[in-house]
Amino acid sequence: MNSSMVKFVVLGAVIAVSVVFLVHRMSKPVDVQHGPDVFLFICPRDGSTMTWSRQEYMDFQRDQFGGDVLCPTKGTPMVRASQCPHCEAIFEAQRQMNCPKCRKPLFEVSAQAF
Ligand SMILES: [Zn+2]
Ligand SMILES: [Zn+2]
Repeated sequence: MNSSMVKFVVLGAVIAVSVVFLVHRMSKPVDVQHGPDVFLFICPRDGSTMTWSRQEYMDFQRDQFGGDVLCPTKGTPMVRASQCPHCEAIFEAQRQMNCPKCRKPLFEVSAQAF
């Protein structure tokens, strides 16, 4: 690799990193306006859960300037949770495709996918 190639690669990396950073900065942690009607939260420390309607959560975000939802018993931040449509287990929302409890898929899988 000659030096101009190196410059090109470095420049590309810098641009890629700043684009990722910008996209990350612009994306709000929770898209309330276009989010689901119900927001679930779970406490990572004691597993207690909380359910907010969209309106309740919007009011909360407005009053708290987008602050964390706090656990009523521990006072520590709660995280977004998902509920399994099959066994109704509530768990920390990640990018998992299957319920950690019953292992069934969390999302409808179209028949064409197979
Ligand atoms: Zn808690
Ligand atoms: Zn399940």
